[in-house]
Amino acid sequence: MTAQRPTLAVFKLASCDGCQLTILDCERELLAIAERIEIAYFLEARTRTLEGPYDIGLVEGSITTEHDAERIRQIRSRCKTLITIGACATAGGIQSLRNWADVDEFVRQVYASPQYIQTLATSTPVSDHVPVDFELRGCPIDKKQLLMLIVDLLAGKQPRIPRYSVCIECKLRHTVCVAVARGVACLGPVTQAGCDAICPAYARECFGCHGPKESANPLSLAEHYRERHHDPRPLVHLLSNFNAAAPEFRQTAARLQSAPSGPAQGAN
Ligand code: SF4
Ligand code: SF4
Repeated sequence: MTAQRPTLAVFKLASCDGCQLTILDCERELLAIAERIEIAYFLEARTRTLEGPYDIGLVEGSITTEHDAERIRQIRSRCKTLITIGACATAGGIQSLRNWADVDEFVRQVYASPQYIQTLATSTPVSDHVPVDFELRGCPIDKKQLLMLIVDLLAGKQPRIPRYSVCIECKLRHTVCVAVARGVACLGPVTQAGCDAICPAYARECFGCHGPKESANPLSLAEHYRERHHDPRPLVHLLSNFNAAAPEFRQTAARLQSAPSGPAQGAN
């Protein structure tokens, strides 16, 4: 990083702005950060912009147009450290449901003047297009994880991004397991931690917004639920949302969909 304050740029692609709002939600911490970092480009927060290159680039959103694909290459070339934030940027987001549908039909159904819409048939994560240094998962990202990442980068340390499961965080905060206690199909065992297991802490299942953990095996989890006489089919909906295009989630959702009336087959 430069001798002056390092510069931070925040970019948006196809997304709902929720992860950028999480940055703004840092409020008090944001003021402290602004003393250590020059916020050089963040259109949602300020009109003044500084030319790159930038030390840290945060990218929200997925690639859904040719313009996005060209833009992310330009962004990459201007950022020393590139970090993708949120399920859209890291896995294609909810909009990746188009990847297995007729996107032209969607466009016809949604837009009054579809002839003006230019879009790709797929929504893909940033890492499919350019090298990414770090990923922050979630829909939206977790504020504490974002702050820790920025602090680590400023200290010249390797950011601490866990690859273990949400279940570990349940145990750390002494949350009663909703899968065990209530028989609810929870995606926590196959979902990457980082949110402090907030959903089970409020007695509801994890729906996988942080995407697959390292070596996730959702098909085996579905088999586990079936063996305990739980219906694994609700998992299809949980696996087919914000991280639908993550390969581990997609493959299992397809397998469960192809066996709609019965158990998951062939888990290993
Ligand atoms: S509630 Fe879900 S995330 Fe928490 S321990 Fe149980 S299965 Fe894991
Ligand atoms: S518990 Fe699951 S769904 Fe809830 S915020 Fe964490 S990863 Fe997302």
